[in-house]
Amino acid sequence: MKILSYRTATGHDSVGALVSDDTLVDLSSLIPAPASGVSPIRLLLQATEGRLQFQDTELAGRERIALDTVTVAPLVADPTKIIAAPVNYRDHQAEMMEDYHIDALGVFLKAPSSVIGHGETIRLPYTDRRFDQEGELALVIGRTTENVSIDNALAAVAGYTCLLDITMRGGEDRSTRKSFDTFTPVGPYLVTPDEVGPLASLQLRTHVNGTLRQDADIADLIWGVPELVSYASSVMTLHPGDIITTGTPAGIGQIHDGDTVSVEIDRIGALTVTVSAAGAVACPTKGAVRGPKPPAEITPVRSRVSPES
Ligand code: MN
Repeated sequence: MKILSYRTATGHDSVGALVSDDTLVDLSSLIPAPASGVSPIRLLLQATEGRLQFQDTELAGRERIALDTVTVAPLVADPTKIIAAPVNYRDHQAEMMEDYHIDALGVFLKAPSSVIGHGETIRLPYTDRRFDQEGELALVIGRTTENVSIDNALAAVAGYTCLLDITMRGGEDRSTRKSFDTFTPVGPYLVTPDEVGPLASLQLRTHVNGTLRQDADIADLIWGVPELVSYASSVMTLHPGDIITTGTPAGIGQIHDGDTVSVEIDRIGALTVTVSAAGAVACPTKGAVRGPKPPAEITPVRSRVSPES
């Protein structure tokens, strides 16, 4: 099942299930009491304890809405936190010439206020710094979870989605470099685990202006989803709607004003956003000369699918 956060033409925020390519079933009637300041999808996750695999009988009789009459909203506009994996693919570790990967680094946090949705615009804040795209598989937590074992960790996951971990390169803390407003595009929708199937069979592709930059097997994650969720829950209590992003494979590269960036994962969807440098100013911090050195040139990636096929 695919779950979409959306805004109606009259400006009402809601959450629904995609029952076909062009039709939504509104799920707001499943939310017991509207709470101001909490997004509909978080209230739905709380009400269902993260089980979003609705039966046809549960959807029957609810309001049906044509998809083209609504605007896609950020999947979770207000997560209590965004937990991110640093250096969780060996080919990305190699391209960054990093000495360490996740098993020495743990996880880091991105500001919840950095979230945007499918179709929105990344705003580059500075004229004199390098900004890169990082295409990633992300998951949304379904229920309050603390200290879960690796074996039981997937029970905490409501579903999967696409995420772009937009990054300023340099020596400032990760929490600064990756937390600018608009630096966490996520969506377009959540796909429940039953529909995603085995994670190890998924491939991720990131395109910038139609050129393939990242083409990776999710099976190559150093810490897979169960290990990452278990570890994160040993550090901090996970709440419904929290987002955990699994890290980026090789193929990161610079993004510029006017670019279109898209990350696509098998059976999970394709998230597309644009880039603007309007209003950018000189950077007030001096980290540009520090930090891991990203590749200077973008290495073209050969797609697995030959152009002839
Ligand atoms: Mn990342």
